[in-house]
Amino acid sequence: MKKVMLMAVAILFSAAAVFAAHSNNPVSDTTKTKKVKPVTKVQYTCTMHPDVISNKPGKCPKCGMTLVKKVDAKKKPAEKRKM
Ligand SMILES: [Zn+2]
Repeated sequence: MKKVMLMAVAILFSAAAVFAAHSNNPVSDTTKTKKVKPVTKVQYTCTMHPDVISNKPGKCPKCGMTLVKKVDAKKKPAEKRKM
């Protein structure tokens, strides 16, 4: 009976080791790619006062409205199609 127990423990141990090794790699990989992800420049502006620009969320000093995210509008909006 002891042999069976030993085998079960051995199988469990190797399975755990394989699982740990297997699950460890992709996790560290994804965290790496997440860190590498480029940070897009985000600015916050007031919808009423476009001249109010802040690089962090907050409130407009002029009217107290919550600043909204302003993404660099470098890419063109949808192209107009002749129709
Ligand atoms: Zn404002």
